[in-house]
Amino acid sequence: MKTWPPAALAFALAAGAVPAAAEMRPDPEIAAAAKAVSPADLGATIHALVGFGTRHTLSDTTSPTRGIGAARRWTAGRFDALSKACGGCLVIDRPRQTVTGARITTPAVIEDVLAIQPGVGDPNRVVIISGHIDSRVTDVMNATSDAPGANDDGSGVAAVLEAARVLSQRKFPATIVYAVLSGEEQGLYGGKVLADYAKAKGWRVEAVLNNDIIGNAHGQDGKVEDQAVRVFSEGTRPGETDKDIAARRRTGGELDAPSRNLARYLADTADAYLGGFKVRMIYRADRFGRGGDQAPMQEAGYPAVRLTEADENYDRQHQDLRTEHGIAYGDVESGVDLPYLARVTALNVAALAGLASAPPPPTDVKIAGAVTPDTTLSWTPAPGAVAYKVWWRETTAPRWEHAETTTAATLTLKGVNIDDYFFGVSSVGPRGLESPVEFPGAAGAF
Ligand SMILES: [Zn+2]
Repeated sequence: MKTWPPAALAFALAAGAVPAAAEMRPDPEIAAAAKAVSPADLGATIHALVGFGTRHTLSDTTSPTRGIGAARRWTAGRFDALSKACGGCLVIDRPRQTVTGARITTPAVIEDVLAIQPGVGDPNRVVIISGHIDSRVTDVMNATSDAPGANDDGSGVAAVLEAARVLSQRKFPATIVYAVLSGEEQGLYGGKVLADYAKAKGWRVEAVLNNDIIGNAHGQDGKVEDQAVRVFSEGTRPGETDKDIAARRRTGGELDAPSRNLARYLADTADAYLGGFKVRMIYRADRFGRGGDQAPMQEAGYPAVRLTEADENYDRQHQDLRTEHGIAYGDVESGVDLPYLARVTALNVAALAGLASAPPPPTDVKIAGAVTPDTTLSWTPAPGAVAYKVWWRETTAPRWEHAETTTAATLTLKGVNIDDYFFGVSSVGPRGLESPVEFPGAAGAF
């Protein structure tokens, strides 16, 4: 029979050595994984990707040296090599769809390259890291000019491969999927291919960390922002029924879609493992008027966020390689800051390891307590959880502030008025690792 807190933790609590309940406690194995991220390996991946000249979605697919086909085969080869190094721990798959659209005028094959590391406990529960391999220049239809895409999104692909290298050396209860997507610049097609693939497999996708433009710390405004990354998340989920919307308008939840609580989880992860490197949560699904591969995953009902560097340089994105009036345009390797990219990658590694090691959030979270001085939460237990934390925060606070722990499937917070706070529940596993917080009702359900 499991007890909570474990003896060692109870002693530490008594000694005052453990952070307050609201802080994520670092786990030594996860800290070691985050530390294993190599700036040199990230740089080698970007160098190899740039070497394919262009990776435009409509570029050459048969050349062994140039175009998106060669780049995808190289990526699959890297996954193969990593799998050999871990005793065949990765399943490599290349789902594809033939599509047409506004930016694909004749039918083209969109192919993603996936490496799947099946979980040893609950393989149907899945956490995903993604980046897109395709690149572009000024004219989105130009499939032949050199389009190095070092940062957009060579940086994201490098993070995916580096996460695979580090985490494939370890075992996790949940499945981790390393996803290299195509067709982003032509209309987010690779994200849709991935969403359809996840649905067909019947995965319970708990988190998607989409990395797009994560490698540059020198903003166009001249600032250096090398100690923060932006995490974009939606506040409400798609597919709400009229009844769900009415309930959310009445009692709240517009700040607590699972994607938003995944963003909070990333912010906690940075605080616990990244030594001063911060997540800047942006309460918006993506940058203003722009899109990314997290969107099709969100549309499919999966919690998903977008990571993007803190301060972008637009002279280096979607540009023909050229110099004009002394300004060098183009997405070249020298525009990537490898130590910065390594920090963002380490955040991904720590978050994936934490999510895949912890139990899933509880399901069917309910809340009651109107016209009483207390608030009661209840839920359906999560497989593998040994305890739960009930969280609350001021309605205007961005992060969860207070928590109480229980081993039961319900908890009454005495003297905490339901009117005055937002509430949620996380699951805690035997190592003390926690799931993201789940807000009650349809608005917050993972
Ligand atoms: Zn991009």
